[in-house]
Amino acid sequence: MPAKKLVLTYVDSLRTDMLLRAVAEGRAPTFGALIERGVLVEDCVSSFPSVTPVACAEMVTGQGADGHWISGMDWYHRLERRYVEYGSSLEASRAFGVFRALYDLVYNMNLAHLNPTTETLFERLDAAGVRTACTPFLIYRGRHRHQVSLEGLLRRAVDATQLKFRHHTWGPAELFYGDLYASSEVPCKPSSIPGSRDGYSACCAAELARHDGFEFLLFSLPDNDNYSHRYGPEASVESISKADSCFAKLVEAGGGLDDFLADHAVVLLADHAQTPVHRGLPLAELLGREWSVLRPSESDPDQAQLAVSPTGRAAHVYLLPGAGERADPEAVRARLNVLEGVDLVCRLESADGDPLVREEPGTPTDGATATVERGEARLRFGPGDAVVDLRGGRWDFEGDLGAIAATVEDGRLLSRDYPDPLSRIWSALTAPHAGDFVLSLAPGYEAVDWGGVTHAGGGSHGSLLAGDSLGPLLFVGCGPADASERAQWTLRDVAPVVLDHFGLT
Ligand SMILES: [Zn+2]
Repeated sequence: MPAKKLVLTYVDSLRTDMLLRAVAEGRAPTFGALIERGVLVEDCVSSFPSVTPVACAEMVTGQGADGHWISGMDWYHRLERRYVEYGSSLEASRAFGVFRALYDLVYNMNLAHLNPTTETLFERLDAAGVRTACTPFLIYRGRHRHQVSLEGLLRRAVDATQLKFRHHTWGPAELFYGDLYASSEVPCKPSSIPGSRDGYSACCAAELARHDGFEFLLFSLPDNDNYSHRYGPEASVESISKADSCFAKLVEAGGGLDDFLADHAVVLLADHAQTPVHRGLPLAELLGREWSVLRPSESDPDQAQLAVSPTGRAAHVYLLPGAGERADPEAVRARLNVLEGVDLVCRLESADGDPLVREEPGTPTDGATATVERGEARLRFGPGDAVVDLRGGRWDFEGDLGAIAATVEDGRLLSRDYPDPLSRIWSALTAPHAGDFVLSLAPGYEAVDWGGVTHAGGGSHGSLLAGDSLGPLLFVGCGPADASERAQWTLRDVAPVVLDHFGLT
């Protein structure tokens, strides 16, 4: 067992430039002190789509969506023939039913949607006897049984609807999930209001530290996301400052920074960044002019031709095996490609060059290639040998590298605009719940969610572009001696560093 415990802290939507600005302005002194003592990677690459469920799953499994199976904030379940909505907004949850969205978020994401054969950090560490803990975090699956405790608001909601919300679950040894789960009694008041959750998280983390309650702690600070969505990422010094003071509560409970760091290694990172958005893209409405699009409340999914899953600045579009006339894949592709606000249209093709339509669950993608289009530029690629990317992935390609603004220098594929483009697109497309088309939106656009909501005038994320995708990854007391140890860091590198710290590689 290593001498130090490890705290994996994520600040939702944290941008490196805003973190450094907050530190320079004296608004984030604890994060500043950590940066001084640690190794900062300024441009760690998020998942694609660069949204929290996908990114958090990547962080704690070390795999992309093809490995962990969580494809977005919203996706279409081909087997159940319905949308899965994790709560893009309260209005979106309402469109599907708040209870159903909550059930998908809390239980199904961990116990049904997350690949059962891909181990999370909690499961790996639990199996090795490391004492695990987490504050409210989307992906919490571990090896300890937890009984549901219904308190407060949720209890009233459950009683009012007569619905049974009685599931126990599997999590880390210490699991804190607001009103639902608390593995030990803590004097901390949960809040279900978005944008005011960091305090509860910090309170639980500090209590755990005071009582020697963990060797590995996942400490979540989600509020910065809400603030950046609302006021734009450029305004986020305010919410970063709050996250810093919440982190400081854990440090205080550990005896101040020197004592705390003598006992604890820290990883501080973002799940993704954010960019300003000024326009909503009403994808379902636009496609609905030519095809019948499955509605959230549809009782008869057989009649629909398309399912549309907005997920921030990305989206999935599914071709449905409807009872009536099917949508022509080529016509849908052509339409998507000319929609204003759509940047990249990505899809799979079968070995003979036809669009690979995955109407049934479990359609194999073996032998498929991926195609990515940006306007007139079209690139086809797949695993191969012609070029090497910055992480050592090898690919064959034909067509126009301009589709992903890439160049090849000395056999190495580089793209400044779209970090780690090929493996991220490939992973998104070959994931079992991927749309037949995966879209990445242009700067300034956000897909309108099923509740009719966008953050136009504020910020958002989800695209393959660097602005949404690159965030800080800071190691203190663990990880590399220098950021240059890798040409490119991604969220997939986080779990291996943690396992390595505990001697589990
Ligand atoms: Zn967000």
